[in-house]
Amino acid sequence: MFRFCPACGSRNIRFEHNKIFRCPDCGFRYYHNTAAATGLVISTGEEIVLLVRAKEPAKGKLDLPGGFVDPGEGAFDGLRRECREELGWDPGPHCTLFASFPNVYPYKNIVYNTCDLFFTITAPGLTPGDFTLQEQEIGGIRFVKPQDIRLDDMAFDSGRRAIQAFLAFPPKKRGRQREE
Ligand SMILES: [Zn+2]
Repeated sequence: MFRFCPACGSRNIRFEHNKIFRCPDCGFRYYHNTAAATGLVISTGEEIVLLVRAKEPAKGKLDLPGGFVDPGEGAFDGLRRECREELGWDPGPHCTLFASFPNVYPYKNIVYNTCDLFFTITAPGLTPGDFTLQEQEIGGIRFVKPQDIRLDDMAFDSGRRAIQAFLAFPPKKRGRQREE
């Protein structure tokens, strides 16, 4: 990411331990820390909602709604903001956290390591007409039975693992927010 030290201009800057930029000449350090990101499994009870990615990385592949958590934001609020931005739809405050996996997200020659947090919400009766897609990022929407998803079609490893975890997550707990 840095070829020269941003503090002293030295070419000796090094990237260490897959996260620290360190300049031996002036002592500059920059921690390229893991970023938090969210993903949401929106379930109608039978099908879940997948988005077609309209841009790189993984253009044309399937992904869950969600994205990076902003500075100063909590994961639940970040998830709701991303859903409003991507789908024009607010999942509300009762999403349930059910899994977390690491991911690697290459973007414009920089590799971001993320800690992805996966939530779910059950929304019976939801249809594609309930969404207003943000067309620059979202190429389309699919309602799919989770057991029918081809994991190779998922854009990211963490999303693949999230689908597997969702299938293993007890349906009674998945529907909890609906019963309360
Ligand atoms: Zn330096």
